[in-house]
Amino acid sequence: MKKGTLNPNIKLKLSLPPSDEVYFAKFLTQSGTFMDGDLLVNRDGVRVVSQSESEAPPPIKPLDNQLNLADIDTIKVIGKGSSGIVQLVQHKWTGQFFALKVIQMTIEENARKAIAKELIINQSAQCPNVVMCYQSFYDNGAISIILEYMDGGSLSDLLKKVKTIPEPYLAAICKQVLKGLLYLHHEKHIIHRDLKPSNLLINHRGEVKITDFGVSAILASTSGQANTFVGTYNYMSPERISGRQYGSKSDIWSLGLVLLEFATGQFPYSPLEQDVGWASVYELMEAVVDQPQPCASSDQFSPEFCSFVSSCVQKDPNDRLSANELMTHPFMNMYDDLHVDLSAYFKNAGSPLATLNLW
Ligand code: ADP
Repeated sequence: MKKGTLNPNIKLKLSLPPSDEVYFAKFLTQSGTFMDGDLLVNRDGVRVVSQSESEAPPPIKPLDNQLNLADIDTIKVIGKGSSGIVQLVQHKWTGQFFALKVIQMTIEENARKAIAKELIINQSAQCPNVVMCYQSFYDNGAISIILEYMDGGSLSDLLKKVKTIPEPYLAAICKQVLKGLLYLHHEKHIIHRDLKPSNLLINHRGEVKITDFGVSAILASTSGQANTFVGTYNYMSPERISGRQYGSKSDIWSLGLVLLEFATGQFPYSPLEQDVGWASVYELMEAVVDQPQPCASSDQFSPEFCSFVSSCVQKDPNDRLSANELMTHPFMNMYDDLHVDLSAYFKNAGSPLATLNLW
C-alpha cells in the first residue's frame, strides 16, 4: 500500500479508557503539565527529563540559580507593601510555590547598585528563621525577587485578627525572631534596618521568619521615595531616625517596639492627633528622640516580659542587649513547660492566606 492511502478493508479500532478525565489526570501535574515517562509537556514546550525526575522533579533549592521568570505561573496577588506587590506563584516544572515580589520603580544608579549588592547577600543567607531568597532579577525598571512562600502571611496580618498576642506565644515567636537576628547580626554581619510586623512571616508549621532585609531600607532612603515609606520609620531607633551612626542594636530597638505592639495591640507611640496620624516624619522623630522610651506595664505583663522589652528599648544603643545576650534572657525560657503550639495558634487565628489547603 502506498503511503498516504487507507486500505478500506482494514477497520480501525479506537478504544477509549472508561473515563478520560481519570485517564488524563494520571499524566497531569498540579500546574497542568503533561507528564508521561521521560516527557514533560506544558504550554511552554517540551522537556525530556530522567525517569526519576518525572516521578518527582527535585525541588529547586536556593543557590541552584535555575529559576526563570518564564518558568513560573502567577496564582494570585497575596500582598501589597510600600515597595510593590507580592504574588503567589508556582514553578511550572516542579509544582513548587514561591512568593514573587515585584518592585516597579525608576531608581538612581547608586540605589540600584546598592540593591543588587543587598540581593546577593540576601541570596546567600540561609537560616531557618530568615525567609529564603531564591533568585532576583532586574528587568526594565522592575526588581523581581523570588522568595520562599510563607503561607500564613505576616505577623501584621495575624495581629489584625487576634488583636493581641498572649505572652507564651510571644515568647515562642520572639525566640525564632531572635534566632534570625542572631544569624544576621553575628554570622552575616548584616543589619536588617526595617524590622516590623509586616516583615515577620509565618507558615503552617508554626515557623516565624524574617524577610526583607536591606532592600526596603535602601529604597526608603532613595530620594523621591521617602514619603511612601513613612511606615518604615515607625520602628526606627532614635540614633537612626535622627541620622546618627547606627549598628545592629538598631534592630534590637525595633524588636522591642514590635513585641510591645504584639502584646498590647497598639504601636507604642501615638501621634498628637490620633485620627489624622503622624503629621510628618519629624513629628514621629521628635517623639522617638525626645519622649521617654516606651515600656510594658507591670500591671499587665510578667516582670520577665517587662525586663525583656526594657533590654531592647533603651535610647542609648550601648544600653541595649545584643541578640546573643537576649537569647539567654529569662523571658526566653519562662514558658517552655507549656510547649506552646504555634502551628495550631496560627491556624486557629485563621490566616488570610489560607487558600491553598496547605493548612
Ligand atoms: P512591605 O513593603 O510593607 O515590607 P512587602 O511588600 O514585603 O511589605 O509584603 C507585603 C505583604 O505581602 C506582607 O505583609 C505579606 O502579607 C505578603 N508577603 C510578603 N512576602 C511574602 C512571602 N515570602 N510569602 C508570603 N507572603 C508574603
